[in-house]
Amino acid sequence: MKRTQSNKLYEEAKQLFPGGVNSPVRAFRSVKGSPIFMERGENAHIWDEDGNKYIDYCCSWGPLILGHRHPTVMAKINEVLAKGTTFGTPTKYGIDLGELIISNNRFIDKIRFVSSGTEAVMSAIRLARGFTKRDKIIKFDGCYHGHVDHLLVKAGSGLATFGTSSSAGVPEAFAEKTLVLPLNNPEKLSEVLEKEGDEIACIIIEPIPANNGLLLQDKSFLECLRLKCYKYGILLIFDEVISGFRVGFEGAAGYYNIKPDIITYGKIIGGGMPVGAFGASNEIMSHVAPDGPVYQAGTLSANPVAMAAGYGQLSELAKDSFYDILEEKTTYLVDKINTHCIKNNYQVKLFNVASIFWIAFTEAKKVQAANEIDGEKMSYFALLHEFLLENGVYLGPSGYEVGFVSAAHTQEDLDNTAEAFCAGFDKIFS
Ligand SMILES: *Cc1c(COP(=O)(O)O)cnc(C)c1O
Repeated sequence: MKRTQSNKLYEEAKQLFPGGVNSPVRAFRSVKGSPIFMERGENAHIWDEDGNKYIDYCCSWGPLILGHRHPTVMAKINEVLAKGTTFGTPTKYGIDLGELIISNNRFIDKIRFVSSGTEAVMSAIRLARGFTKRDKIIKFDGCYHGHVDHLLVKAGSGLATFGTSSSAGVPEAFAEKTLVLPLNNPEKLSEVLEKEGDEIACIIIEPIPANNGLLLQDKSFLECLRLKCYKYGILLIFDEVISGFRVGFEGAAGYYNIKPDIITYGKIIGGGMPVGAFGASNEIMSHVAPDGPVYQAGTLSANPVAMAAGYGQLSELAKDSFYDILEEKTTYLVDKINTHCIKNNYQVKLFNVASIFWIAFTEAKKVQAANEIDGEKMSYFALLHEFLLENGVYLGPSGYEVGFVSAAHTQEDLDNTAEAFCAGFDKIFS
């Protein structure tokens, strides 16, 4: 497989962008390769600048649940493009998308559109602080919430519960307001809340943690979070930027039937355009400007082209049995690969929930917390990644990232993918 054009473009890009990219994981560093420059996509397939074709399981890191260039999405985008791109005024396209979401979601009364997942989370945290008039927040080790200052924080050393920043440029004074706890650990949570519960504004969690492997939580842990938040007057934020509209139209809140106080969305909500959102009850949302004192704004918020793309995509997702069919496809793929690995006693398995899957090089039956992932084993992922590229399957270039099955993946795609995975594992483990 030739990558001449990609390699040439990468050399040019390095002159222009730090690391040659505009978002770090795209740089292929964790698989020790060079990024592949994509040229176009159609259904479940993408083509790179050298003309190589791949079955795509990155799906732009999640947004493309219908695959590339779905006709409904494209038609909506073209309809708006014929009229303009942005007006800086309200448009009916925002209402269409807002109405579709709110009328199919039991957990929120009002929503505010923004332009990225990061922005949604940043605003949700500010809202929680404004609402509770408290400063401290709790997050979990192994959850990613975008590049928000207060959330680029990792567990501190020793007995300290307050975090230390995981990025240069984040003031220690910010990091100290963020407590970092282990996932799926109700004891540790109780312990911290007993001491500091009445100083905490919010607990933020990816209810389906999918940015550092797929760390499926016990439902009882999520229920425990809900009850503890009621007890201490803390707002529970479900960061559903990945899980929203992915595990069901109502996301993880609907999947587990747990009502968070604030939900953040991103990725799928924009139909491939830059959209994020946060939603909550009327009472909580009444604190957002201009109704309330929590300031939040955006020049391109609820951009009409993006709203229309989101509406086109979500209107497809709202159809009967959409999610059942997608889950069946994913289970088919994952089972087929796992059966081969079990038969051959390979130390690897695919975990999945709905259409999210993750490749774990482990013997463990479950992986539920960040410290249960063996970083050394990521060298296997790098080998698999390169093998799959050579065999026409595109995964995100990091073993900590999950893969996504889209509605556009056909039976043939799934069978070809399973075959490539099995051959890849045969090669790695032989
Ligand atoms: C992707 C993601 C974000 C950040 O969204 P961006 O659109 O990349 O800013 C935040 N939270 C979660 C759970 C995500 O998966």
